[in-house]
Amino acid sequence: MPDVIVIGSGGGGPVVAKELAARGLDVLVLEAGPRFADPATEWTHFEDDANNPVSGFLRSGPADRSRPPWLRDLPQHSYVWQVTGVGGTTLHYFGNSPRAVPGVFAGYDGADRSLYDTGHLFPFGYDELRPYYEWVEATLPVQTAPMGTKERVFLRGAAALGLPHQVSLDTTGPGHRAQQNAILQPGGTAGRTRDPALLRHPRARGCTMCGHCYQGCSLPAGAPRNLKARRSTDNSYVPMMLTADAWSPHGHAVTLVTGAVVTRILTDDAGTVARGVRFRTDDGDEQEVTADVVVLAAGAIESPRLWQLSDLPDPYDRVGRGLTDHHLDAVFGVFDEYTGETRGAGSNARVDLPGYGGIEQVGMPPALQAYSLGFSDSGIHGHGRAGGVVDTAGADGLGRLVGTDLLGALSDADRTLMALVITDDDVEDDNRVTAPGFLPADDHGPVARVTMRHRQRSARTRRNREHCTRTAVELMRAAGAKSVHRCDWPPLILHAHSTMRMGAREEDSILDPSGEARWVRRLFVADNSALSNSLGGPNPTLTTQALATRTAERIFAAYFGGDAWVGREDPVCSIDDRVTEAVIARGL
Ligand SMILES: Cc1cc2nc3c(=O)[nH]c(=O)nc-3n(C[C@H](O)[C@H](O)[C@H](O)COP(=O)(O)OP(=O)(O)OC[C@H]3O[C@@H](n4cnc5c(N)ncnc54)[C@H](O)[C@@H]3O)c2cc1C
Repeated sequence: MPDVIVIGSGGGGPVVAKELAARGLDVLVLEAGPRFADPATEWTHFEDDANNPVSGFLRSGPADRSRPPWLRDLPQHSYVWQVTGVGGTTLHYFGNSPRAVPGVFAGYDGADRSLYDTGHLFPFGYDELRPYYEWVEATLPVQTAPMGTKERVFLRGAAALGLPHQVSLDTTGPGHRAQQNAILQPGGTAGRTRDPALLRHPRARGCTMCGHCYQGCSLPAGAPRNLKARRSTDNSYVPMMLTADAWSPHGHAVTLVTGAVVTRILTDDAGTVARGVRFRTDDGDEQEVTADVVVLAAGAIESPRLWQLSDLPDPYDRVGRGLTDHHLDAVFGVFDEYTGETRGAGSNARVDLPGYGGIEQVGMPPALQAYSLGFSDSGIHGHGRAGGVVDTAGADGLGRLVGTDLLGALSDADRTLMALVITDDDVEDDNRVTAPGFLPADDHGPVARVTMRHRQRSARTRRNREHCTRTAVELMRAAGAKSVHRCDWPPLILHAHSTMRMGAREEDSILDPSGEARWVRRLFVADNSALSNSLGGPNPTLTTQALATRTAERIFAAYFGGDAWVGREDPVCSIDDRVTEAVIARGL
C-alpha cells in the first residue's frame, strides 16, 4: 500500500510525486497513456505522424495507435488539444513559463484591480506563491529564451507600439520581453549548425533550434533523458521522481505504472474520505489500490470527469464548472523580409497586457501554419460566423484562408509571423465539463462533454480578446508586415483550467486553499483544473507546478507529520549531475 497515489503524469502530477518521493514517501503514479522511453526511435518530426488527433503518437488515446483515440463530446468546430502519456500535454508544450499576474490574487491593490475577474481570485496573495515559483524555476530550470530573427521582428513591433521592455519576472504593467522558458539555452554546437553529425550530445547542449517543439523534444541526440532541451515533465520532473532515492538523502523512487486508466476514486462508506482508486490496464484487467492520500492530476477535462463518474459529493454543483481557456485567437503577418518563422523554439517572445491578457510570438512548421490559418469561427473570408460577429480588428482579412489565398500567404513559410492572442477570460458557470456526454462510452466509461459557450462569452472576456487582438494587429504592422490576417479561432482548448478551482468560499470552489477537496478529505487536485482563474492570460503550467509544490507541502504536513521545505532548503535542479548519473545508470 503506497502512502500516496497520483493520478496522471502530465504537467502537475509528477511535481507532487517528485516532491513527496524526495521526502521519503512511497508514491505510486498511475498514467493512462504510454511512456515514450526512447523518443529518438519512437518519435519523428513529421507533423501528421505526431499530431494527428486520431492516429498521431501525441494524441489522447492508448499506446497502441491502431486502436481508436479516446473521444470527448466537443462544441462545434472546437478541439481539446491534450496528450496522454508520461509528460501529458507538456509533451506538446512550448515551455513558456511566465508567472501569473499579481492582479488575479487576493489582496491585490494595484490601480488596475477592477480590470480583473475579481469574483474568482486566488484565495491568497501573490507573495504567498512567489517562493514556490522560484523553487520550480530553479528545478526545471526556467531560463531566458535566446533571441533569433522571428523574436527580433516581433519585439521590434512591440517596441514601436511604445510598450516598455519588461525586465522583472513579476508583471506589473504592459510590456514586452523575451520569454522565460523551460528550455535549456543552446550550448556548444547547438544553434550554430544544422549538421546532425555535429548536433550530438555532449558537443551540442540544450536547444538545437530545430523548430519542432510540437512534435515532442528528444534533442540533442544522445543526451540523457534529463538533459533533453525542453523541460516537458518527461524530461524534468519524471526523471527526478524515478531517481529520488539517488539525489535526495531520504528519497524513495516513485513507482510508475503506465497504460493504467483510473476509472473510480474509492472512498469510505460515507463517501467523504478518499481511500484509493480503481484502475484498468491496457489488457482490460481491473485492480484496486488503497493509500493514505490520493492526488488527482488527470487534467482539466478528465479530473472533473473522474470525480463525476466516481459519484463523489458536489453539494453546490460546482465540479466541472468555470472552464477557462484564454479564448485564444491568432493574428498572422506576411513579410517581405526573412522572419525565420519555422526556426528555433516555438515561442521566445511575449507581450503582457495586464487586465486584458497578452500576445505571444509563435513559430511553427508549415503544416501547422496552414492548420492555424484554416481554423476559424468566421468561415471563409469572414462569411459564415453564426452569431456574435467579430470584426477584423484592423487586419486586412478575417476567417479561414483557403485555396490561392492560403498558398499565397504560405508561399514562403519563413516570411511569416504568427501572434497568439491569450485572453484573460472569466470563470463562467456555463463553460463546463460534464460526464456522461452524448457520445457512446469508451473502454473506461462515459466520455466527458465539454461545453464552451464561445460565442456568448462574458462582456469582459470579449473586450479583452478584442483589445489583445487589435494590439497584435498593430504590432504586426509596426513590425513591417505587408499584410495582416485575423483568424478568429473557435475554441482551441490547449490552455484548459479552473474546472476544479481553488477558492475562498465553499459555494464557488471545489478545493480549499490547501488544494484539498472540500467534500472528500485526503483527496487533493494538482493539475490545471485547480487554478482559481485564467491567471490574467499567462501560460498556466508554471503556476500549476508552483501550486502543486505548495500542495505537496500541505499533504506532507497534514497527513505525514512533516515540515515545509520551500524557502528553507535549496532545490535540486533536474539537470544536476546526481540525477544525470542515476538516469544513465538505470537506463531511463
Ligand atoms: C500545443 C501546446 C502548446 C502549449 N504550450 C504551453 C506553454 O508554452 N506554456 C504553458 O504553460 N503551457 C502550455 N501548454 C499547456 C500545457 O501543456 C498544460 O498547461 C499542461 O500540460 C497541463 O498539465 P495538467 O497536469 O493539467 O494536464 P496534462 O498535462 O494533460 O496531464 C494529465 C495527465 O493525466 C493523464 N490521465 C488522464 N486521465 C487519466 C486517468 N483516468 N487515469 C490515469 N491518468 C489519466 C493523461 O494521460 C495525462 O498524462 C501548451 C499546450 C499545447 C497543446
